[in-house]
Amino acid sequence: MKITSVEIYWGAYINVKINTDEGISGWGECGLSYGASKAAGFGQCQDYAKMIIGMDPMNTEEIWNLLYRHTFWAMGGGAVTTAGISAIDTACWDIKGKALNVPVYQLLGGKTNKKLRTYASQLQGGWRKSVEAHPTEAHCLFDPEEYADAVKDAMSEGYTAVKIDATQIPADRARMGEIGNLGISNFGHIERKDLDRYVARIAAAREAGGKDLDILIETHSLLDTNTILEYAKELEPYNVMYLEEPTMPANPALFKYISDHCRIPLATGERSYTRWAYLKFFEDRSLSLVQPDLANTGGITEIKKISDMAQCYDIGVQIHVCGGPIANAASLHVETAIPNFIIHEEHMGNLFPIYKMAGKYHYEPVNGYYTVPELPGLGQELTDEYLSTCTKTVVD
Ligand code: MG
Repeated sequence: MKITSVEIYWGAYINVKINTDEGISGWGECGLSYGASKAAGFGQCQDYAKMIIGMDPMNTEEIWNLLYRHTFWAMGGGAVTTAGISAIDTACWDIKGKALNVPVYQLLGGKTNKKLRTYASQLQGGWRKSVEAHPTEAHCLFDPEEYADAVKDAMSEGYTAVKIDATQIPADRARMGEIGNLGISNFGHIERKDLDRYVARIAAAREAGGKDLDILIETHSLLDTNTILEYAKELEPYNVMYLEEPTMPANPALFKYISDHCRIPLATGERSYTRWAYLKFFEDRSLSLVQPDLANTGGITEIKKISDMAQCYDIGVQIHVCGGPIANAASLHVETAIPNFIIHEEHMGNLFPIYKMAGKYHYEPVNGYYTVPELPGLGQELTDEYLSTCTKTVVD
């Protein structure tokens, strides 16, 4: 089989569709559609597409290594190159599954996990009731009572775990304009009165959820090491499952310091690319959960290796899912196969109309559990309605 052309789509998400001389096509996703690297990701997919024309898409390992070594840049790390590799790699796995007429999870080891426990993610933006009330924009929760309502909303659908970043939204509504949308400027040290407010939000979530609810605390790498330790100490009474991205991930030594001074297990991964970026975290065992993003850490090929390496250190895996329907479907296949799967992330972004319109098949958790698609390949495609909203480039 030979790759004949690659279509690259820029819309709410960045996707590639790889076409072959046998009439089989595969879908992949480049996980840079949010943040400020979207044009770079779209361009990187075009650069990589030129390198794989004429290659056999079944040879995923050969293609991965070609892209990694012959961009010149990927071997130094960085999201743009590895997100481009992710898109190409994932599309090749989709083709491989379709060519062999099996779902991708069968090629990764089969159905180790029959169903995938799932948590409702990013409740600082509300949950379904909030999204339905504000369907075209992210909505921010301020008051502790609003956090309690979001937890109850998620639990009413059967979720037994939630994730909240109480520090991402400014402590009071009036300061939204002052420190930026979603608190992006809210980093480093945090004043005592604000920290108290953030802890009150988590206290309200615990009160609403009861003692059996698992709560993951997200901090989006916003706080510095000293502040996260202060925050973590005050969160201890609320039985936190994991503390995610406690500070910036580029210096694993800080994670080791935090894990030595904090009782809450640490998680990180969405800004760490390829197995080499995880190596230090594994060796010093500062993390208890890795959260690689399939659409930016290097695709299915790479995330399987990261997961297997993590198992050697008794570290669990939750794939970071914050993109479109292709990335979510691909993540379900990997999580179904790996023995150290912990929990799946259902991002509140999946509740927005654009996500539902983009995917040909609508998969969502039932009573807090996902099951993997059973169609050949990834079992997901993008709709013509969605693709008509995208800018399209073809490399052949
Ligand atoms: Mg995160």
